[in-house]
Order: sequence, then C-alpha cells, then structure tokens
Amino acid sequence: MNIHEYQAKQVLKKYGVPVPDGGVAYTAAEAEKVASGMGGDVFVVKSQIHAGGRGKGTFKEDEGKGKGGVRICKSVAEVKEAAADMIGKTLVTHQTGPAGKEVKRIYVEEGCAIERELYLSMLIDRVSCRVTIMASTEGGMNIEEVASETPEKILLQSIDPATGIQGFHCRKIAFALGLKGGQIKSCAKLLGSLYEAFTATDASLLEINPLVVTKDGDVIPLDAKMNFDSNAMYRQPDIHELRDEDEEDAMELEASKHDLNYIKLDGTIGCMVNGAGLAMSTMDIIQLRGGTPANFLDVGGGATAERVTTAFKIILSDPNVEGILVNIFGGIMRCDVIAEGVVAAVKEVSLGVPLVVRLEGTNVELGKKIMADSGLPIISADDLGDAATKIVAAVKEAA
Ligand code: GDP
Ligand code: MN
Repeated sequence: MNIHEYQAKQVLKKYGVPVPDGGVAYTAAEAEKVASGMGGDVFVVKSQIHAGGRGKGTFKEDEGKGKGGVRICKSVAEVKEAAADMIGKTLVTHQTGPAGKEVKRIYVEEGCAIERELYLSMLIDRVSCRVTIMASTEGGMNIEEVASETPEKILLQSIDPATGIQGFHCRKIAFALGLKGGQIKSCAKLLGSLYEAFTATDASLLEINPLVVTKDGDVIPLDAKMNFDSNAMYRQPDIHELRDEDEEDAMELEASKHDLNYIKLDGTIGCMVNGAGLAMSTMDIIQLRGGTPANFLDVGGGATAERVTTAFKIILSDPNVEGILVNIFGGIMRCDVIAEGVVAAVKEVSLGVPLVVRLEGTNVELGKKIMADSGLPIISADDLGDAATKIVAAVKEAA
C-alpha cells in the first residue's frame, strides 16, 4: 500500500524525524490559507500523486510546455496561483506512464535553502531477511540510473533485526554521505528515527530523495515515499486510514473488495486461475505459445459461481481482452461445481470473446460434461499446454 508524500512526512514526524512545516490543500483557496498561516517568504507547492519524478514531470493540459509538479513560490499569492494551476490537471512523470495522474491535492511546504542533495532509503531485502539501507551522495536523481551507471556511489548497509540500527551503522552511512561535524550526530539521530518508523509501521519501503543538507547545516528529508506491507494492515489501522483509493487502479480495487488477487497487465488474454503459482505458470505458458496475458488473477481456493462471475466481469472490463483462459484445479473445490459456476457466469456476462476452460481434479469428467451440455461456446482443454495453444489460436482466428 502506498501513501502520499505529505502523509509519509506526518508519519515520520510522529517518530521524531525533523520534517519541514507544511499543510495539505484540495483547492487554491485552501492553499492560500495554509501558506498565510505558515509565515516565511519561500514556499514549495508540491503535487500529491502516488508517483515520483513530479519535479521534472509536465502536465498533459500544458502539452509538455508548462511548469512541473513541484514549484518554488516567493509569496502567498504565488502559492495560490501555483495551486490553482496544478489542481485538476493530469501530471505525467517517468513513473506514471503516458496516462499520467490527476492532481487532486497539493502540499504547501516551507521552502528551504539547499546546500547538497543526498539519497537515503530503507527496504526489505528478501534474500537476507533484513532491512537494507541505501545511501548515496547522488540525491535528487533517479536512483536506478545511479545504480546502473555509478554503482560505487551507493552504499548498502544491512541491519540485523535482532540488534536494530547501531551507532557504527550510522557513522558509516554519515561518512559515505560526506557529512561533517555536528551533521554526523544529527544524521545518526535521523537514521534511528527513520528505522523506528520503518519497522513500527510495517513499511516495505521508505525513500528520502532528496535528503538535504541545508545552508544552515541541518540534515532534513525534503521528499518522502513510504510503501507498506498490505498483509500487515490489519494491525496498522492508522496507516490503513491513509489509503487513497483514487490513486489505485479501479479494477484492482474492485477485485480486492471481493478478495480476488487481480493485477492488470498489458496483454490480450485474460486469465482466471486458482492459486498464485498456477496463475504464474499459466501466464508463462501463454507467453510461450505466442500470446500475452492481460492480467494476473488468482480467484483463490473457493472458486464459487459468485466469485467466478465477479472475476469474469473484472477481466471483461479491460478493453484489451480478446480471449479468456480459465485454468482451475479442482482439489478442495470439485470440478463439477466449478463448471456450474463458469456456465452460470458466462450466461450472466454475455461473453463476446473466445473462452477456453481447462479443468483438472476431482469430478473432472462431470465438469467437462456440464460445460459441453450447456450449449455455450466454451472450448474445453485437456491440459495446460493444450489450453494455451487453443486460446492463442482462438484469439488469432477471431481477430
Ligand atoms: P519528485 O520530483 O517527485 O521526486 O519530488 P521532490 O519532492 O523530490 O522534489 C523535486 C525537487 O524539487 C527536489 O529534488 C529539490 O531539488 C526541489 N525542491 C523541493 N523542495 C524544495 C525546497 O524547499 N527548496 C528548494 N530550493 N528546492 C526544493
Ligand atoms: Mn524526490
């Protein structure tokens, strides 16, 4: 689960991280109010969308000619103007894809005088089962680029969860970032707070890009991105409350409401499978037979008629879908029950694309008979390879 930058900063603040003052606004009038309440004479107005690269991004409505999604303003009037210009427009960055994301809220923050921009992140390293801290002097840039072009400029420090972050880790990171004197101490304090925030909130990623050294010598996060382990949200009600459903894919959201694991992809063959491993194999074999999967969809163990119907509706709402492959293993569920579910669902959704169904497991023959007797144009397949070959061929024929 993702949250907005301003929310991440509020979370970090709770754990003692020094973040600049600021406030969120949904309208230009609100932005004006926030800025006048803050005092100071330099403000930064930042588009709040769940994607990075906002500074260098451009708005669709400006056809690439206008200003970016992060603006420095020298007065309250400028803040109001910047907010009015950004809210309601669609920001396109290297992370949003060409469709971009509509800016519905902005963050007004006190400006700060930057001396140096650094990079700092924490993430879960699944191989070592530890939190890894990434630090680099190359802040404000795309870290993937730094990693591929100048990997020596990135320090990786793994933290054993049994000890947590220690003084020597912090000093090593502070030295790698080129910090001096009192900055080393404030960096150590900052790292301790960030690590505490990361572990206490079940975060999976915490990225500060840039972490800045100000002209006054302070070390503070100017940007903050946090992702959380969705499976931990049952014990993180405060974090879960920060979820912004507007930022999520509408169909993925609908699927999650029905406990279906659905991820939209770019291909043309919709997949409905029970079990994540089987779903992945199905996607692989479709690819192998020359097709492209339109989605990953795990309907889970209880593939009831109702869930199968919902799954069909979700798959069919993707205009790129030219065919559907249902691949279900009837272990706990019997194949005849699944077949009845598929038949009922197909009748309800009025299918306009070819459908291949491969069933295997308990009562498979009965299941196949139910589909054959239904009078519906369901193409039955015997095994995974057969199913993939048939759906790829059917889609080609229909085109
Ligand atoms: P991103 O482009 O989505 O990663 O958004 P950031 O929050 O990282 O902002 C982009 C850039 O704007 C930063 O790298 C900074 O260079 C600049 N920026 C952000 N806040 C301030 C500020 O308070 N003062 C100054 N001078 N620059 C800022
Ligand atoms: Mn950034």
